[in-house]
Amino acid sequence: MRNVANLVPPYAPDGKHHATSAALEFAVLSLGVKHVVVMGHGRCGGIRAVVEGGDPLSSGDFIGKWMSDVRDVVQAVRETVAEDMDLQTAVEHASVEHSLANLRTFPWLRIRENQNAITVHGAWFDISLGELHAYDETQRRWSLIPAE
Ligand SMILES: [Zn+2]
Repeated sequence: MRNVANLVPPYAPDGKHHATSAALEFAVLSLGVKHVVVMGHGRCGGIRAVVEGGDPLSSGDFIGKWMSDVRDVVQAVRETVAEDMDLQTAVEHASVEHSLANLRTFPWLRIRENQNAITVHGAWFDISLGELHAYDETQRRWSLIPAE
């Protein structure tokens, strides 16, 4: 599924509307997918909104609420980002890592991962650069997938 800023929200069975959680539940419990890929992208408007801050777009401020889970990620990246790394790109990567952690708050996904029945992956692409990056969780490192 696609959503604003490619986010996976944390598991929150509160009876409210959760399209991403519903799609994840259907994919894992009904379709029985073996792999879940959280795919971020370059120049993401949702990520830019939380990096740059600014006023709410409306009184309901759906985007602000949706992106609020990433505010702590932005702060952590600001404190640790390498000087030669673009802040927005660093946050886009870190947001994917955060979503991978949120994926594991879904008990039925975590159980299947512990049973090696499902694997989660982090990736990021930038159309304008023609680049695809993959996240290696054991090394906690992003790397460019070379074009063939
Ligand atoms: Zn985006």
